[in-house]
Amino acid sequence: MAIEYQGELWTIQRWVSGFYNNAYLITCKSSNKSVIIDTPDQPDELIAAAGETDVNAILITHNHWDHLEGFDVVTDQFQSPVGIGANDADAVADKDGYRDPIDVSQDNILQVGEIAIRCIETPGHTPGSTCYLLPGDTPGSAPHVFTGDTLFPGGPGKTGSPEAFNQIVESIPNRLLTLPANTVVMPGHGDFTTIEASAAEYAVFASKPREAGLFGDVTWQ
Ligand SMILES: [Zn+2]
Repeated sequence: MAIEYQGELWTIQRWVSGFYNNAYLITCKSSNKSVIIDTPDQPDELIAAAGETDVNAILITHNHWDHLEGFDVVTDQFQSPVGIGANDADAVADKDGYRDPIDVSQDNILQVGEIAIRCIETPGHTPGSTCYLLPGDTPGSAPHVFTGDTLFPGGPGKTGSPEAFNQIVESIPNRLLTLPANTVVMPGHGDFTTIEASAAEYAVFASKPREAGLFGDVTWQ
């Protein structure tokens, strides 16, 4: 686990799994309450770090297996409410660990200690893909948004059809690029970026005529 943000009110730690998935642990400093974001395979390190805290919620960005392979072991360890987008919930609906579902529909706020996470519905990569926004914890400090496989440095997440691609290129400008420019984008794989950098990249893409039927692995430029 690496500390990626050390604020006044909370810390954000990241764990990178063997399959290069990012999972996150957000911990409220005053209450020691925490939130886990995504549950990749063999999450021993994540569980060890989260075990030092009082896990109040497990949030899933979307229903792809690589973000869920550690779901059973994490939810066995921590009997916490679980949130996943309604349109992705089938993947975990039958699991014992899917308990006390958290409503993660658009603009819902999840309060855990001082942490107030806003849910943002961003369909496209999957129908129920959901991003989770942490505001800055002091005036002037950067917000953080956990984007799963919806937004990466350089492009959107992979889409499975032209319709899904149209959805993701609605979700990203309307729901993510409208966030403060200094917002740190923390995706489900790889490196971080910012909303400012993503907006600049997207502007290049939006300025060019779009190939009909585009989908799959698309980059902004
Ligand atoms: Zn995915």
